[in-house]
Amino acid sequence: SIRHLDHYFGHGRLRKQVLFDIHLDITAGEIVLMTGPSGSGKTTLLTLVGGLRAAQNGSLKILGQELTGAKEKELVQARRHNGYIFQAHNLHRSLTALQNVKMGLEVTGTRSPQEMVEQATTILNQVGLGDHIHYYPDDLSGGQKQRVAIARALVSHPAIVLADEPTAALDSKSGRDVVNLMQTLAKEQGCTILLVTHDNRILDVADRIVHMEDGRLETNTLTAEAPPKAA
Ligand code: ATP
Repeated sequence: SIRHLDHYFGHGRLRKQVLFDIHLDITAGEIVLMTGPSGSGKTTLLTLVGGLRAAQNGSLKILGQELTGAKEKELVQARRHNGYIFQAHNLHRSLTALQNVKMGLEVTGTRSPQEMVEQATTILNQVGLGDHIHYYPDDLSGGQKQRVAIARALVSHPAIVLADEPTAALDSKSGRDVVNLMQTLAKEQGCTILLVTHDNRILDVADRIVHMEDGRLETNTLTAEAPPKAA
């Protein structure tokens, strides 16, 4: 639940406002896509929702917890509910697919090593990489790497998945596959997705599309049945 949210970067004369009076409610289980031109503030909003930095003005509540003005310790706690998927997959090159996905469980620290291997193997099977669990990222295609990243983000069954341009580095078929996979897993797990994209080809996975323009969220949000016309 976001109300009157502003955000600034820099200090003094260099202080610049990048988010203006944002209002947004996202319901559990929704898949919301955020579109908008470069520099309009999409990533900034995503990082605030994801607890990667503290919101400054207004109110931003995630699962009932107020994150405006939150201390780092509170943000770390909030991040435990989240899975993150970025444009660059951010996999560790020196770790196998299985080891990378296991890392998504190690942060929670509640499972035995054996359980972590089992869960990581299960989700790698679900994303179609059962035969590649011992491969290193350099030996996987872009689409396969992004599927490992999805497996890592979702293996802990997060309440919320934040995805920033997850298809940007992929050809259209791989991009489509990756997003369909995210959608399927998210619906199975009942998790909420906030996804930033420039990719018009994936808009139909959304339950709702919101649009950012110059740091403002346009109020007339669209449903997936009526996607915006291509430019
Ligand atoms: P893109 O689609 O290109 O990723 P975006 O819509 O995600 O763009 P943001 O990355 O959120 O936009 O950037 C919004 C504004 O905030 C831009 O003017 C950008 O220069 C500025 N900005 C982003 N991060 C920082 C930072 N760490 N320090 C200072 N300014 C920043």
